[in-house]
Amino acid sequence: MDINDWEIQYAEAYVNIKDSLKDIRGVFVAYNSNIDAIKHVKEEEVRKLVDLLGCSVIQGQVVQYPREIKDPVDLMARLVISMRDGKAAEVPTYNTDLHEWLMDNLGFDRARMGGQAGIMSNLLANLGIHNVTTYVPWLSKEQAEYFVDSPNLLHPAVENGELVLKPPREVYNPHLKPKVNWILEFSKDTKVCCAGECFAVPRDNRLIISSRPDWLHIDMSSELYDRLPQIRQNIDGALLAGYQMIKEEYEDGTTYHDYVKKSVNVISRLKECNPRMQIHVEFTSIQNRVIRKAILTEIVKKHTTSLGLDTVEVANALNVLGYEELAFAVMSKDEKSVIALYEGAVRLLNDLQLQVVNIHSLGHYISLVSQDHPVDVEGHRDALLFASVLAATQASIGYINSIDDTKEGLKVPIYEKGHEDLGSLAAYLVHKGVCSMDEFESGCINAMGHSLVIVPTKVVDKPAGTVGIGDAISAGAFIALLTKIKDKGEKCPGHT
Ligand code: ADP
Repeated sequence: MDINDWEIQYAEAYVNIKDSLKDIRGVFVAYNSNIDAIKHVKEEEVRKLVDLLGCSVIQGQVVQYPREIKDPVDLMARLVISMRDGKAAEVPTYNTDLHEWLMDNLGFDRARMGGQAGIMSNLLANLGIHNVTTYVPWLSKEQAEYFVDSPNLLHPAVENGELVLKPPREVYNPHLKPKVNWILEFSKDTKVCCAGECFAVPRDNRLIISSRPDWLHIDMSSELYDRLPQIRQNIDGALLAGYQMIKEEYEDGTTYHDYVKKSVNVISRLKECNPRMQIHVEFTSIQNRVIRKAILTEIVKKHTTSLGLDTVEVANALNVLGYEELAFAVMSKDEKSVIALYEGAVRLLNDLQLQVVNIHSLGHYISLVSQDHPVDVEGHRDALLFASVLAATQASIGYINSIDDTKEGLKVPIYEKGHEDLGSLAAYLVHKGVCSMDEFESGCINAMGHSLVIVPTKVVDKPAGTVGIGDAISAGAFIALLTKIKDKGEKCPGHT
């Protein structure tokens, strides 16, 4: 299919999904919301910080590749690495000293809602989805203010023994402090020099310093957990994210096993009356391999229906599942990478017993779908196209405040390189006898026990921002699929 034909598919899918969003009864979204302090780092600011700390100490830490930020030198080392490679990264910090140092030495340009669950909740509310029930275990007053103030976005609480759903601003915990993450964005071609060695940043990207104070727990009070059945009556699916906050050990003696168990219990409760309820987990970069593996093999596996990841996250996931070579191939810069992505998606789908693996990269998205998923390949393709329109909107204007804003995304042209990459994968699959060229374009049905859908995406040349696009893609594809599932599943006896 040439690019013009794809554009026609885009226009049709967009209208189709947009008009059906009202059919979704509701979506439950948990867990991670935070406040993002965003700073676009300029050349002279990097120079100033490098001068302040000294090049040789920073370079020493570049070699060490710190996986946790303990001090400003660790921070600068990870910033230099991200800028050098043009790669996105997220690194945790466990104390608030770094926040003070950044406030004193860099400052931020603006602050906004952050965290996958927070971003997805606001997006769904802005798109007009009914009953967006968001849940954040650490809902502080400051945090509550970053949720859109809209009657379709509510947070649960228990008042006088009864479940209530209210705007976050009415149910925050006044005793909690806000969780503030720093997002250091940088632009292509920014020059960085350290000890006479200079490089230019190869592409726009960002480093996230994720704040993980002791009091962050992926958890739910037992009184709320007991009332989940009332929440699930009004939802068609759940978007879950933030498991990366789980720590191996806690000061009170509990371990990640306890939090994995709690997380699984919540999912089981949501699915109690409808085992087919769509439960999507949005993955992210997780430095700790024990936690990364536990999330995949103990929370995602068997319990959830779909998993969303970007290319780096696919490589990271494959790595802990024992596919090191494939992980390496995914990260290769040549046309083989899209083939490795497909092969990797097959491993994830099978090993984690999922119904859908959604992979987004710059230029194309892939959905690998198991035979038992209720939506056909055309539906999955429409979902990816709709997701791409949302991503393009977010990239081109920097926000999605209403469904009308998404018209902007539809205007963005398809990325030619992404369209070319499709050709590499098509040639490989046809060669392997997995599907014919025609099938490839409309979606390979039941190729080796699964279906494959891949679309070229719309990419904005000079994006207004890069944060949150991945979340828009996954949330967009998820709700688009929900519009296609007409059978809402079983109900517990006694529920209307
Ligand atoms: P985040 O967590 O910040 O959302 P991800 O890495 O999960 O980041 O997702 C980034 C995705 O956004 C990429 O995989 C790509 O598909 C999309 N994207 C990035 N830049 C652009 C752009 N300029 N135009 C359209 N889509 C983009």
